[in-house]
Amino acid sequence: MKFQPQASHFINGAYVEDTAGAVIDVIYPATGEVIARLHSATPAIIDQALEAARQAQAQWAAMTGTERGRILRRAADIMRDRNHDLSVIETHDTGKPIQETTVADATSGADALEYFGGLAGSLTGEHIPLGGGDFAYTIREPLGVCVGIGAWNYPTQIACWKGAPALACGNTMVFKPSETTPLSALKVAEILVEAGAPKGIYNVVQGYGDVGASLVTDPRVAKVSLTGSVPTGRRVYAAAAESIKHVTMELGGKSPLVVFDDANLENAVSGAILGNFYSSGQVCSNGTRVFVQKGIKEAFLSRLSERLATAVIGDPMDPATNFGPMVSEAQMNIVLGYVEKGKAEGARLVHGGTRLARDGFYIEPAVFADVTDDMTIAREEIFGPVMSVLDFDTEEEVLARANATEFGLAAGVFTRDITRAHRMVAGFEAGTCYINTYNLAPVEAPFGGSKQSGVGRENSKLAINHFSEMKTVFVSMNDLQAPY
Ligand code: NDP
Repeated sequence: MKFQPQASHFINGAYVEDTAGAVIDVIYPATGEVIARLHSATPAIIDQALEAARQAQAQWAAMTGTERGRILRRAADIMRDRNHDLSVIETHDTGKPIQETTVADATSGADALEYFGGLAGSLTGEHIPLGGGDFAYTIREPLGVCVGIGAWNYPTQIACWKGAPALACGNTMVFKPSETTPLSALKVAEILVEAGAPKGIYNVVQGYGDVGASLVTDPRVAKVSLTGSVPTGRRVYAAAAESIKHVTMELGGKSPLVVFDDANLENAVSGAILGNFYSSGQVCSNGTRVFVQKGIKEAFLSRLSERLATAVIGDPMDPATNFGPMVSEAQMNIVLGYVEKGKAEGARLVHGGTRLARDGFYIEPAVFADVTDDMTIAREEIFGPVMSVLDFDTEEEVLARANATEFGLAAGVFTRDITRAHRMVAGFEAGTCYINTYNLAPVEAPFGGSKQSGVGRENSKLAINHFSEMKTVFVSMNDLQAPY
């Protein structure tokens, strides 16, 4: 098989296999062909990985931040050098076009390794004067063994967004990719070792949800960082709470994208395309509820249809392709089910929404107009290429409707009125907001959700706070007074 790794798991600096674990077939979504066969982690493998991470942690934390950072930065360089090969793997694992994986996966992972590698040497506490010469100081300490659990849409990126800040702070990690896309995290682990990482600081175990669940409840684990759906987040958060573990939850969304009638139409259509159809719509922060002010609605829909007709749907390995298949047959069927629900509930399908008559799990990008707030397609996260267009009259009305959801991952607004743009983002109940753009997630800026879309933030200096904790030390320079 073309993409068969040496073994299923990467533990203590080496590939490890245990064929007693359930079989995981890795399927190329563009053809349905099995490209690798792996095994889910057995309890013995899980134990081995956690033990390796536990044993490696003290030595890793004892290195200077500069030394740790140097290793992460070297790993970033190796990832960039191998961007093409890594992108080919990512495309086969996820089905995302090579045009996308070349610019958004290993490169984004490398950015995280470089950024947090650069910060590692500057992670310090502070000195706090308390009067009379007394003082306190704080020591920034790692949490210990961290578990990362990933979704299938950005496997390399997620492996690095969690791994890089964790390692920069002196933690070690056991990472479990989604069983749908298990290949690239192994490459991240390999590259870290090549860059000089001590054995055991970054381990990868494969498996289904039950493997994730065993990791989350293990007493050796101090922190869990999950990227996944809200229902999984609820389960993982509850399991982690049993032993008061730290958590970061990057969960799903049903984000609003608001287009006022004074917006630059071409930019607004670009924002809606980027925010709905990149990665075949499998992006957590997508602005899938597109609220369009009535005055611009028909122009918006017609320009959108014209531009969607030029999408190049096809072989993800063809550099000209800009829209690939869904990640799996199961996900394709979920999405097709939502398209049927949209039609049955009275939304008007103005573009696409059908399965393509070819091998692989292809759905044409779908646009529904005349969607109302109560429809299923406007309430539930679909995680596929289905855009709902809703109409509105006033700013006040659209803000209330945009916020009327349990999710709060992202929100966007397109308008030329600068004060209105800032009023809107001030009112949005969302962790990540966009004005006249959509779906950026550079490592320098915090990324994450409000409400049920998440807890904590990834990227930026803020991520450091989620992978370390402060010890406060009080120091008396004077004789101590006591009442008796
Ligand atoms: P899932 O929630 O189904 O799974 C996420 C991960 O959790 C998988 O590795 C899964 O393993 C694992 N898992 C499942 N059950 C448990 C459990 N009880 N304990 C521990 N781990 C468990 O998400 P998908 O993989 O389907 O990804 C899509 C979801 O991810 C969407 O909701 C999307 O919005 C969200 N997402 C959020 C992002 C963000 O940054 N906010 C970014 C990307 C995606 P397995 O797959 O083997 O079941």
